Amino acid sequence: MAIKENQLKLYNSLTRKKESFEPINSPHVGMYVCGPTVYGDAHLGHARPAVAFDLVFRYLKHLGYKVRYVRNITDVGHLENDADSGEDKIAKKARLEELEPMEIAQYYSDRYMDNMDALNVLRPSIQPRASGHIIEQMEMVKKILDNGFAYKSNGSVYFDVVKYNKEHHYGKLSGRNIEDTLENTRELDGQSEKHDNVDFAIWKNASPEHIMRWNSPWGSGFPGWHMECSAMSSKYLGETFDIHGGGMDLRFPHHESEIAQSVAANGKEPVKYWMHNNMVTINGQKMGKSLGNFIILDDFFSGNHELLQQAFEPMTIRFFMLQAHYRSNVDFSNDALIAAKKGFDKLMKAEETLDKLNPQDVTESAFDVNEWINNCYSALDDDFNSPVLISYLFDAVKFINSVNDAKVAINIESLDLLKKYFRTFVFDILGLRKDEAVSGDSELSAKLLGLMLKIRHEAKLNKDWATADNIRNKLTEMGIIIKDTKDGAVWEIV
Ligand code: ZN
Repeated sequence: MAIKENQLKLYNSLTRKKESFEPINSPHVGMYVCGPTVYGDAHLGHARPAVAFDLVFRYLKHLGYKVRYVRNITDVGHLENDADSGEDKIAKKARLEELEPMEIAQYYSDRYMDNMDALNVLRPSIQPRASGHIIEQMEMVKKILDNGFAYKSNGSVYFDVVKYNKEHHYGKLSGRNIEDTLENTRELDGQSEKHDNVDFAIWKNASPEHIMRWNSPWGSGFPGWHMECSAMSSKYLGETFDIHGGGMDLRFPHHESEIAQSVAANGKEPVKYWMHNNMVTINGQKMGKSLGNFIILDDFFSGNHELLQQAFEPMTIRFFMLQAHYRSNVDFSNDALIAAKKGFDKLMKAEETLDKLNPQDVTESAFDVNEWINNCYSALDDDFNSPVLISYLFDAVKFINSVNDAKVAINIESLDLLKKYFRTFVFDILGLRKDEAVSGDSELSAKLLGLMLKIRHEAKLNKDWATADNIRNKLTEMGIIIKDTKDGAVWEIV
């Protein structure tokens, strides 16, 4: 398919406007999306950007662009408080589990990929790891130092935000005014290595107990978290590329700092279009481990979590997310997911019905298929408006069912077009697929297993070890392994 020039408009968070999409080097498109920090299981907060940018990737490819999609894996340098202090998230998990940090990173990136496969998220063209690009990051730190936008302090290198902001606007992506920030953060405790609190580490000196460390011209240390995305995006996509995506929460400080680092190193704006997906809430609340509403994707797929009434198939989760525009908040609840499942099943049933329809010898159909196709494209061209596209798909579902009930007729040409485009939008672009072996049986099994775990949990609370062990042993005989974790028991079919 040829590219429909300048039809697609997308919202650029840098200019805060919808803009016509014009790739720098059409038909080639470079797209970079911040990927996971691999120290724990993937949850809904990981699924959201993956699905949102999968739609972008799929649609751009459908339009005929040659897309190089880079999504990184953060396996070093992301400290606990997202800034310059605290323990490295992966090193901490490794210490707690008594494993090598790279075992943690490998284990959770494998699990992440499994979850993304289940959600039918296409694999990116390149998945670079931060730990595999330490040299590139050091080179960029050196360039920033040479250009005078960073300073050395106690074996660390800090980005000089105040100096940068005199020539450029630090805060233009997040809409912050750095002068206001300076007023609020001027208090330095005298212990700080930084000239100013707004400065951030681009290279961090490693304390003696820090495991992940590399020798550098500034001493033994590791790169600052923001460095990896600047270094890897410019390595694989060039100093200026088309689209940079990620969650809204990454706009500041992560993406703001990426812009500053790239401009300071290369003297160029790194990104033409910045795109940010909105967040996920659960029953109206922010998701968080401390709030007890932290549900990992595997829990959704198994139904094995006390907040879930049942298991939800990956396609229900995907469809539910696509029912909201990527820039809108998504709120998960059992009712909303059950409704999404009904909608998804209706869509799949209509797709099956398409093959049963008999065309009639009519000149005009009650449903203008050409106009419908144009409407579907217009929805996608309007900043990837998937909810509007889905509403058009349900118009088609209604029509398909009416033809099937012999209430209205369709001719062969229109039917062929409808079949082709209905499937293109549903499968190729929205990336939905029919779940195999989905039946009432698997949902019922999940519920029954959940019940068994509850009974076993109660037995354990009552110190009735015989019953607890009996349940575990009987399930093991059936090929269902029970594992006790600090967050409760989980089951796995082997
Ligand atoms: Zn990033």
